[in-house]
Amino acid sequence: MIRLAFFDMDGTLCAPRFYVNGKTVGGMSDEAWLAFCAKNGEDSYRFCKPVPLVAEYVEELKNHGAKLYVLSSSNSEAENAAKRKFVAQNFAGVFEEVITVSGDAEKLPVIRKIAEKTGVKLEDCELVEDTYSLVLQAIVAGMKGTHVSHIYCSLN
Ligand SMILES: [Mg+2]
Repeated sequence: MIRLAFFDMDGTLCAPRFYVNGKTVGGMSDEAWLAFCAKNGEDSYRFCKPVPLVAEYVEELKNHGAKLYVLSSSNSEAENAAKRKFVAQNFAGVFEEVITVSGDAEKLPVIRKIAEKTGVKLEDCELVEDTYSLVLQAIVAGMKGTHVSHIYCSLN
């Protein structure tokens, strides 16, 4: 039974959508993103929307008593603040914590650490991601790895 579930944010919990120079875009270069977050601060995610099927899965896991975490790569304090605001506005009281790391390589170590601290077996931990290489790494490490495209299967 899944006791700890970790959700990626961009492209998993949240459909990226940003308003830049009069246009809505789904993403931008790393440099433009840093500048966008510096300019828009905690409102950087204001046009982003939760992904409905993922939100449904979040609710299902929560109802089954799993502890849920957001686990997201972030490059600045402004981006961290924006992610926390998006989660507070769209998933109030649902997640234990919004954990931000500086790169994808830190994600699995963070899961291992929390699993160890809380005495949960890796097989009872789940990573929900849109980056397929991370899903595979989670599976190889003995966790449940769920790609966003698998969620429909997980609900049934
Ligand atoms: Mg992602």
